[in-house]
Amino acid sequence: MLERGPYRPWDAQLESNENSVVPSNSTFRSIGKDKPWNFTIGYGGGTNCWYGTTPRLHPSDFRLKSLYGRGRDWPVSYEEMEPYYMAAEEIMDISGPEDIRIISPRSRPYPQPPHKFSAADRLMKKAQPDRHFVMPTARARVANAQRPQCCATFRCNLCPVHAKFTALNGFRHITENPNVRILTEAEVIEVERSGASSVSTVRFRHASGEQRVGCDLCVLGANAIHSPAILLRSGIGHPLLGRGLNEQLGYAVEVLLDGLDNLDGSTITTGANYSLYDGAFRSEHGGAFLVFDNRFPYGVRTEIGRWRQTLAMNVTVEDELRNENRVSVDSSGNVAVHFQGHSAYAARGAERSLGLLPEVLAPLPVEKIVFKGYRPSESHLQGTLRMGRNRADSVVDRSQVHHGIRNLIVVGTSVLPTCPPVAPSLTAAALSLRAADIAAGKAPSW
Ligand SMILES: Cc1cc2nc3c(=O)[nH]c(=O)nc-3n(C[C@H](O)[C@H](O)[C@H](O)COP(=O)(O)OP(=O)(O)OC[C@H]3O[C@@H](n4cnc5c(N)ncnc54)[C@H](O)[C@@H]3O)c2cc1C
Ligand code: SF4
Repeated sequence: MLERGPYRPWDAQLESNENSVVPSNSTFRSIGKDKPWNFTIGYGGGTNCWYGTTPRLHPSDFRLKSLYGRGRDWPVSYEEMEPYYMAAEEIMDISGPEDIRIISPRSRPYPQPPHKFSAADRLMKKAQPDRHFVMPTARARVANAQRPQCCATFRCNLCPVHAKFTALNGFRHITENPNVRILTEAEVIEVERSGASSVSTVRFRHASGEQRVGCDLCVLGANAIHSPAILLRSGIGHPLLGRGLNEQLGYAVEVLLDGLDNLDGSTITTGANYSLYDGAFRSEHGGAFLVFDNRFPYGVRTEIGRWRQTLAMNVTVEDELRNENRVSVDSSGNVAVHFQGHSAYAARGAERSLGLLPEVLAPLPVEKIVFKGYRPSESHLQGTLRMGRNRADSVVDRSQVHHGIRNLIVVGTSVLPTCPPVAPSLTAAALSLRAADIAAGKAPSW
């Protein structure tokens, strides 16, 4: 495994107050709207900085085109993904509620029990039992051999107790496996072809100079900006290569509560509300996922005796892939990100959800809903090497094998063919396990 960044132990990350020594936005140039795209360059990638929020996709997310005439259908169904969701949840020891199977059916319980709701969540659950759930998460509800219980201190990108799953605490068996060799600070420049339909070597930059390593099977997982950049530098062309860079359109609100003391949940994000997620409206408006936080990013209330009467929410709205939002490389191999903005579909979805919030939040004693603005980023870059059933509509096939280069598998969020309303990492992990099974002949590729 070639990794561009260094291996940074968790205590080094805590001590320096940063996940990576390489700022993500220094690895590319922005053209068009200046928007941050957040990721970690370093061993473990985004498992270092992530917050560990792990909802599954909704079954409808896989059939957006058939159901609502938008975007495209995924080349894989929810039913096919279910065992791989289960496997990914078991590897990361995910905590979650049983009853969420009404939304995303599951074959077995979550490995860990659910976190504790906040007071606002409890009222929502009572009124909307089939729409409001404890948020599934990789932040431990109970201690396991690698991680202590999450203690709700709210700075999960640099968790002071290492309560969330990371590659550092969860993959020691891989790093210690004698068959695995990891070379860090090895920046892949390109893959080199040995004919029309295969790659044979990977060229990379290391302290010792430029080097090559041979490969029978090449697995590319350098994130949704740098994976397409590597293929572009390699001269592996496709009209959709690097196009469709996206993430959800997110906004924040603070709900001032009248007489309800909140903030008593057991982790940073406690509630997942599906009221505005799915339905016929998705033919015109992006679906919205309502995330109930248990923290106080706007401070506690200043009125005497009312300091906990607040609820912070984030709303993430699905976007549509726009081909003009893309990654390119110049003749020197430097990476640029072109971003023109989110789709009108996402903007309409955000407006709709904001208008309907008072109705959804009716079970709460709402004093006021304060719009806190659109968020600059959800830190969920995806979609630049989308998967699909044929070469015309996708870069990789339903097994995540490149349509043209048959010994090249792409993993990570770059393969997502649409932009559902929820965080993508659990789905990317499940897809990777599925791709590995197919490559090993343990699952059918059709
Ligand atoms: C602050 C923050 C919070 C987040 N919270 C959540 C969350 O709660 N839930 C969720 O689902 N998602 C969350 N995410 C998003 C999540 O981190 C990503 O979805 C996920 O990591 C994407 O996985 P990936 O494998 O595609 O890419 P990455 O995890 O970014 O992995 C890519 C790897 O490739 C390496 N690399 C890059 N270029 C090269 C190169 N040229 N040569 C060699 N190696 C290279 C990188 O160093 C990295 O190790 C969060 C992200 C951030 C930044
Ligand atoms: S809420 Fe606190 S303890 Fe839990 S994962 Fe985040 S930082 Fe760690």
